[in-house]
Amino acid sequence: MKFLLESYGCQMNMAESVALENELIHSGIEKTENAEEADAVIINTCSVRKSAEDRIWGRLSYYGHLKKSRKLKLVVTGCMAERLQEDLKSSAPYVDAVIGTNEKLSIISYITDDRLDKAEKYTFEKSYYNEGDYSSYVPIMNGCNNFCTYCIVPYVRGREISRSVDEVLDEVRFLDRKGVKEITLLGQNVNSYNYDGVNFPGLLKLILKELNNIQWIRFESPHPKDFSDELIDLIATEERIASHIHLPMQSGSSRILKLMNRKADREAFIYLVEKMRKAIPDLSFATDVMVGFPTETEEEYEETLSMMEIMHPLEAFMYFYNLREGTPAAKMDGQIDEKTKGRRLQNLIDIQMERLFKEKETRVGQVCKVLVTGNTRDDKSKFLGRNEHNEMFSFASTCPLTAGKMVTVKAVGLKGNTYLGEMIDG
Ligand code: SF4
Repeated sequence: MKFLLESYGCQMNMAESVALENELIHSGIEKTENAEEADAVIINTCSVRKSAEDRIWGRLSYYGHLKKSRKLKLVVTGCMAERLQEDLKSSAPYVDAVIGTNEKLSIISYITDDRLDKAEKYTFEKSYYNEGDYSSYVPIMNGCNNFCTYCIVPYVRGREISRSVDEVLDEVRFLDRKGVKEITLLGQNVNSYNYDGVNFPGLLKLILKELNNIQWIRFESPHPKDFSDELIDLIATEERIASHIHLPMQSGSSRILKLMNRKADREAFIYLVEKMRKAIPDLSFATDVMVGFPTETEEEYEETLSMMEIMHPLEAFMYFYNLREGTPAAKMDGQIDEKTKGRRLQNLIDIQMERLFKEKETRVGQVCKVLVTGNTRDDKSKFLGRNEHNEMFSFASTCPLTAGKMVTVKAVGLKGNTYLGEMIDG
């Protein structure tokens, strides 16, 4: 029996797909990438953007056609399965099972013997690791209590649940023994972690005591309101916590941030950015920015541009507001037309790209640790890697390097977004 798993959406979803895939393989079901030979197709869906849902509807229709000519079990899980359970059943009747995010493990019994045992609750599984991985996710919490007015996550993922400290430490020890070099702690609102009085900085301190091989700890996605001084001090003093921080901005306008229910206004966000810059050596930011939220004026959009200038992130995930049925923002008056949203987004992207290229040029000359990710496609003596700030490097080495090795590289040039490097130490 063979399964094919398609996955969409955030890193949490991707990590959960890896865990599910491992569970399926451990149950004796073979993995395939070829739909023609699959006995079961599982689609792990995402509801955050309408475009993702549209794409998934297209994939469902493709598999619906495939089912006309051969026997195939089609299973939908993930956020769309939570949000659109009834729609899926009526509009895509060829879908055999719609299984919510917290019941993913029942997919195994469903595929193997047609039994849907909803009692098998999906928890945080110790199976995100694949043999040979040098980088791994460690989910530490799930769900969200923040209810940003544009976001569907609290409705489909439910309220925040933190994974037990013992489970997290067990998994970290396991990954460290396996020689993993980089872990990313995951959660929809990762820095609100709290288990039996152990908060997020407390958990990081316990994790740090367990490390021998792991060199970088990252975390995704924090909320600005939960960025405590304790957390900032820890990042500032602890080299193994990567100083590339994802801090979602969303908007530069206090009025829009309030409408979004983001809980931190423009001044508070700028104060946080400046405080972190002062405290953390060699800090860089990644951020999320949304334009075209209902009622956003040109002046408020300009405020977002100016906040990007102040923050100058090295990575920015930029998008325009996408109406999600079932969220408060979907019912707001003053929805912005697609053309205006598109223009604002394109302008934001153009400005960010131009600024980023200039900033990257000033970083030529940096000497840094680079995690090797593999060879370049056309030249086997050249290698690719990324540094603590997620910047890409391409460099030559006279000795063969394996993915997962840490080397020291000097950036001597820049081609597009990739630094041309000289290896100093391997
Ligand atoms: S913090 Fe806001 S944007 Fe992030 S998952 Fe929670 S509700 Fe959604």
